[in-house]
Amino acid sequence: LEASRLNRSFPVGGFLSHARRKVLTDVSFSLERGEILALVGESGSGKSTLARLLARLDTPDSGDILLGGENVLAREGGAASLAYRGRVQMVFQDPFASLNPVHTVAYHLERSLVRHGRARGVELTRRVHALLESVGLTPAEQLAKRYPHELSGGQRQRVAVARALAVEPDVIIADEPTSMLDVSTRRGVLQLLKGLTRERGIGILFITHDLASARHLADRVLVLYAGSVVETGRTSDVLQAPRHPYTRLLLSAVPDGVDFLRTPLPARVATVPAPPLGCAFAPRCPHADVRCHEALPPFHLPAAEHHVRCHLESSKGVPDDAAVSS
Ligand code: SF4
Ligand code: MG
Repeated sequence: LEASRLNRSFPVGGFLSHARRKVLTDVSFSLERGEILALVGESGSGKSTLARLLARLDTPDSGDILLGGENVLAREGGAASLAYRGRVQMVFQDPFASLNPVHTVAYHLERSLVRHGRARGVELTRRVHALLESVGLTPAEQLAKRYPHELSGGQRQRVAVARALAVEPDVIIADEPTSMLDVSTRRGVLQLLKGLTRERGIGILFITHDLASARHLADRVLVLYAGSVVETGRTSDVLQAPRHPYTRLLLSAVPDGVDFLRTPLPARVATVPAPPLGCAFAPRCPHADVRCHEALPPFHLPAAEHHVRCHLESSKGVPDDAAVSS
């Protein structure tokens, strides 16, 4: 799955106003088979807007989405959308909201299997049980008969994962799949996602504000700030040797293992309702200079595949952490 220079803005200030708030600016990335890419950003950074574009629940103002090299935005209509959903599945934050309370677990899974032509008739029950077992919901015969309210939060999220798997997708977009689960349950669901990626070669875009989960799960990380990708690279590079001032600030602000992006960093968030002409982080950056307010920094490659969008990368280099936290 490949995103190329995705832009999305929304109108603000009522219907007489022509003002638009830019939510995503030139977002590009690629996700390979069997890979987990974590999209990390604080509330309001554009994560869910990006998820909606990739799920084709919304359309970008400009940019392309490619799946297996094919431009998916060029094809519209019910058949194209069903075909896309057969390859790209979503797992949402709130599993309770995404399951229908009047239907059993089995019904949800059967519906996906039938709709995407993956099984029918007598085959259905066997497939439902196999799916439940693959996500660790056993005994499958009993779990299949339950209704969503009879399950725990973690079990519901496993059903949502099973439903996505029923379709045999190439990609799963998981938008904060564990943020409503308690810490002990979270680990299990993350482990499940990781196992599935490896076993079945599914690519997972894991959207999160939880750095500990990203570190635990992802092969690569993409850091989104105010709708722009500011840093991307292998998880070990980005989280152990962050180069962008924003990523450094996040990592210095937060003890390991704590949800840190649920609440945006205080104070200056409100000053960036829209990315300005220059660097979106300039109002909060301890290293900002004139250039930062005037021009959008380009991407730079300090090491192979470790991209950073910061003017300092092209000149004197980013000062060390002590300077960032002062
Ligand atoms: Fe800070 Fe300037 Fe780098 Fe933006 S471009 S992160 S304002 S130093
Ligand atoms: Mg969100």
